[in-house]
Amino acid sequence: MVSARVPHLTAKLQGFGTTIFAEMTSLAASTDSINLGQGFPDTDGPREVLDAAIAAINGGMNQYPPGLGIPALRQAIAAHQQRFYGLSYDPGTEILVTAGATEGLAGALLGLLDTGDEVVLFEPMYDSYQACVALAGAVSRPVTLRPPEYAFDPDELRAAITPKTKLILLNTPHNPTGKVLGRDELQIVADLALEHDLIVMTDEVYEHLTFDGVEHVPLATLPGMRDRTLVISSGGKTFNTTGWKIGWICGPPGLVVAAKTAKQFLTYVNGGPFQAGIAVGLGLDDAFFAELAADLQAKRDRLLPGLVEAGFDVYPTKGTYFVTVDVRPLRPDGDGMAFCRELAPRCGVVAIPNEVFYANRSEGRHLVRFAFCKRLDVLDEAVSRLKSLSSARS
Ligand code: PMP
Ligand code: GLN
Repeated sequence: MVSARVPHLTAKLQGFGTTIFAEMTSLAASTDSINLGQGFPDTDGPREVLDAAIAAINGGMNQYPPGLGIPALRQAIAAHQQRFYGLSYDPGTEILVTAGATEGLAGALLGLLDTGDEVVLFEPMYDSYQACVALAGAVSRPVTLRPPEYAFDPDELRAAITPKTKLILLNTPHNPTGKVLGRDELQIVADLALEHDLIVMTDEVYEHLTFDGVEHVPLATLPGMRDRTLVISSGGKTFNTTGWKIGWICGPPGLVVAAKTAKQFLTYVNGGPFQAGIAVGLGLDDAFFAELAADLQAKRDRLLPGLVEAGFDVYPTKGTYFVTVDVRPLRPDGDGMAFCRELAPRCGVVAIPNEVFYANRSEGRHLVRFAFCKRLDVLDEAVSRLKSLSSARS
């Protein structure tokens, strides 16, 4: 798909259009559809987290927080990294609070990349990656993950690295596929980063959302990697607070300073009282984190069989809010974008066409993503609506 040239828009952003999340959430609203598109839960997170933010507002925490983030949150992030992964970060120099992981990614990419630098990343990918690489004047070098395993080909990864490569950007657990990179796969990335002296950025916003006992392994825990890795995460998914936009970066001081230098001119700071809420959340006991994943796994296990019954080819998902399906059994021309645009008016469900997550859009043309971070009754209703698709065909 080639989008029309947008007058006034910088050449760097031509072709990026409006994010699919805005388009599809607005389609859901205008057609009164069930929104299994944009990934956000339909229930509130832990009461303690919400109450801590309310108390912070009532207690007068309503002016600019410090540039690095409030000390309580930076200490809570450090304690969280230590508790779950054995990684130690200095809250004074190695942790930066950002306006969601989105600003963490933007700040790090704008702060680290020079014109012409190359970034190796995996497609499909979260849609802001390519836009931020382009804003930095750098070049994306995508390596394609292919279904059903969504594993990368180590030779393709090696071939994507050139003398201009500055960093590798990866996301695990992975949006939109639900792939959780295994230790062996991460080791391949780590070996290449060490061999070519590359920085690695890891987007771990779904770090607590893995299923079937699959473990999330931060690449920074692999030997030699902590000091060349910027870990990016966010409280949105872990505490059902996607609208709060509290994210963070952890890494060695030099990389954090580069990110901070760009970040301070984007928002400078955000969400003081919400930072206080997330600080409380990160300190919740292990049972909270286990229940969060178990609850989401139950939702996955409710939606997936329904999607199979509705007639899709469904790929396995081991983490995140998402499952990917192949629409071709229901739409033989494999046009996932048209399928999603028609789905809302036809049966009152919204999904995301995966082609927006690809640089090589044809790779994802026939794939569509559904979010299962919704109440079970909502998922049941969505499935019953989706089943009308195959009966309409027969
Ligand atoms: N990375 C990935 C892979 C995502 O799915 C999202 C969307 N939630 C983000 C980053 C952005 O996170 P945040 O809402 O904290 O900015
Ligand atoms: N991360 C969420 C998703 O992939 C929402 C992102 C957004 O709205 N920008 O659905």
